[in-house]
Amino acid sequence: VRREQTEEYDVIVIGGGAAGLSAAVVLGRARRRVLLCDAGAQRNSCAEKMHGFLSRDGESPGELLKICKEQLAQYPSVGFEASVVQAVEKSSSGFRVELTSGTAPVADLLLLATGMADALPEIDGLREAWGRSAFVCPYCDGWEIQDRPIAVSGGGVRSAIDLAQELYGWTRKITVCGHTESLSTAQTTWLHASGVRVDAHPIRRIVHDNGHVRSVQLEGGDCIDCDAVFFSVPLKQGSDIAERLGCKMNGARIEADDCNRTSVPGCFAAGDNVTHVHQVIVAAASGVRAAIAINDELVCRDVRQLV
Ligand SMILES: Cc1cc2nc3c(=O)[nH]c(=O)nc-3n(C[C@H](O)[C@H](O)[C@H](O)COP(=O)(O)OP(=O)(O)OC[C@H]3O[C@@H](n4cnc5c(N)ncnc54)[C@H](O)[C@@H]3O)c2cc1C
Repeated sequence: VRREQTEEYDVIVIGGGAAGLSAAVVLGRARRRVLLCDAGAQRNSCAEKMHGFLSRDGESPGELLKICKEQLAQYPSVGFEASVVQAVEKSSSGFRVELTSGTAPVADLLLLATGMADALPEIDGLREAWGRSAFVCPYCDGWEIQDRPIAVSGGGVRSAIDLAQELYGWTRKITVCGHTESLSTAQTTWLHASGVRVDAHPIRRIVHDNGHVRSVQLEGGDCIDCDAVFFSVPLKQGSDIAERLGCKMNGARIEADDCNRTSVPGCFAAGDNVTHVHQVIVAAASGVRAAIAINDELVCRDVRQLV
C-alpha cells in the first residue's frame, strides 16, 4: 500500500556514502532540515579495508559508516531513510522525491551524492575477489601488494599498459592480460626495459581462496600465479537521476561548478560522481563543499523572505 506523505525539507540528499554523509553533518550543524536517503550500496562496501583516509587508514568501510551514522544521529533536524530514490520531479518551488519506502518528500534543494558504479566484466571468481584481492585503484590497494606478482586487465577508462606503468612503482612482477591493441614504440620500449609481460589472452577465471587470488586462468589455457588482479573497468553513474533530471554530463561524470552546482538550478552533486579522483576522503570533502554552497543558497532564500 502506497503512503502519500509530503514531508518538507530544506535539502534532500540522495546517497549515504562519504559525500552524502559529510554533507548531511555540515547541513545538520547549520540547523537545516535534511533528509538523507540511501540505498546502502557504497562503492567500496566490498572491500575489507579502506586505505589512505587520514586517521582512518586500514579501517573497515562498514566501521566508518557506522561511526558517521552515529554522529549524524546527534543532529535532530537530519532524517535518514534507508530506501532507494526511484524518481525525482522538479517543480518551480523545488524537488519532489519518490522513495521505494512509499514516501514522497519535497525539498527546496537537492544534493546528488549517488557515487559511481564499476561495470565489472563477467569473469568467473571476480565477484568473490572484488575488493579483497581484485582492485581498481593503486592508491587504495597498491601498498598491500608491493613487490608481489599481480595481473593487470584493461577494458575501462584507461589502457592496461597505462595501469601497469602506474603499478610499476609498487611491484615489478606484472603480467598484462588480454591486451590486443597495437603498442606504440614508447610502450614496446618500456615493456622491454621493465620486464612487464603481455599476454593477449583475456582472463577467463580467477582462482581464489575465500576471495584471495591465487592465480588467473587465461582464455588460451595458461595459468598465471599471482596475489592480486588490478582492473581498469568502465564506470557509470551510481544512479540515472542526474541524467533524468537533465543535468549536463561531462562524459560519465555530472558537470558541476566549483560550488558543486549542476546545470539544473537547485540541484547539486558531490563525491565520485563529479570527479575522476575517487577516494573516500575526497568524496567527504566534496560533500562539505557542496553543503556550504547549499547553505549559502538557503541563507539567500531566508534573507529574501524577510525583506
Ligand atoms: C574495490 C574498491 C576499493 C576501494 N578502496 C578505497 C580505499 O581503500 N580508499 C579510498 O579512499 N577509496 C577507495 N575506493 C573508492 C571509494 O569507494 C569511493 O571514492 C567512495 O565510495 C566515493 O564516495 P561517494 O559518497 O561519492 O559514493 P559511494 O560511497 O559509492 O556512495 C553512494 C551511495 O549512494 C547510494 N545511491 C545511489 N543511487 C541511489 C538512489 N537512487 N537512492 C538512494 N541511494 C542511492 C548508493 O547505494 C551508495 O550508498 C575504493 C573503490 C573500490 C571500487
